[in-house]
Amino acid sequence: MSSISFEFFPPKTDEQRAQLDQTATLLKPHAPEYVSVTFGAGGSTLSYTGETVHRLHTRHGLPVAPHLSCVGGTRAELAALLDDYRAAGYRRIVALRGDLPSGMASPGDFRYASELVRFIREHTGDHFHIEVAAYPETHPQADDALADLRHFKAKVDAGANGAITQYFFNADAYFRFVDDARRLGVNVPIVPGIMPIANFSQLKRFSDMCGAEIPRWIVKRMQAHGDDAASIRELGADVVAQLCRRLLDGGAPGLHFYTLNRARPTRAILDRLHG
Ligand code: FAD
Repeated sequence: MSSISFEFFPPKTDEQRAQLDQTATLLKPHAPEYVSVTFGAGGSTLSYTGETVHRLHTRHGLPVAPHLSCVGGTRAELAALLDDYRAAGYRRIVALRGDLPSGMASPGDFRYASELVRFIREHTGDHFHIEVAAYPETHPQADDALADLRHFKAKVDAGANGAITQYFFNADAYFRFVDDARRLGVNVPIVPGIMPIANFSQLKRFSDMCGAEIPRWIVKRMQAHGDDAASIRELGADVVAQLCRRLLDGGAPGLHFYTLNRARPTRAILDRLHG
């Protein structure tokens, strides 16, 4: 199969750390190209991201990619983090703007992710392979799809090597986005971000916030299962595995799984893909 990668969030308690260790152990046999660790905008989980990539790198021997978001951060803070990551031998970064937590006033030294990408290139040259975010269903704050696509291109022009998409359940939105990007002259790999469906009500709330559309047919089928968690998990794995198959058959260069630090939902999809 094409390359796969897994995304984790930084655990904050010993119990969550143990769960991440277990998840990393279970997912490692799938030979990910890298595993990435999210970053709390405004520095709230700054140290946890560093601690978590260190753990995954040293304890589990996994190639890591810390996420770095610029909102709320200063040039000096971001430069210090980049220096630490370079010194630790990491070669990949996921560069983002992030979202300012409500109540936080200072936007920081950079407004957009394209400025962060430019800064990473200025500060560290070609050391890092830089991934950026892409939105097949359009970022919720964008004026329109074309403006968002141009802003995506600006990140690649600033030096990004590849992109990971926001999750989606409509394969045509992805294929259309890739076609449009190619027409604009963007030639980097655009890897679909895949969200396993485990807890449907939580997924629905989250999708409303980040602008990912869950097709009506999926919502209606999920609702038909009521509180039957096992049936929801089965249906979710079937639906998402089918999406992955279509994406790969249509030329997607790989898959990036939003694991939410749990192995089972992601493995259920991978098992179906390999089966
Ligand atoms: P940008 O690319 O800067 O775009 C943000 C918005 O500004 C878009 O609407 C864009 O169209 C617009 N825009 C860009 N440039 C301009 C310009 N010059 N003029 C006017 N408008 C412009 N968030 C976190 O906090 N931590 C994480 O670890 C994290 N990981 C993520 C991983 C992936 C793969 C994805 C898809 C998202 C992730 N996010 C994360 C969420 C992300 O931070 C939010 O979606 C955020 O709102 C936008 O970040 P961005 O890097 O896409 O921003």
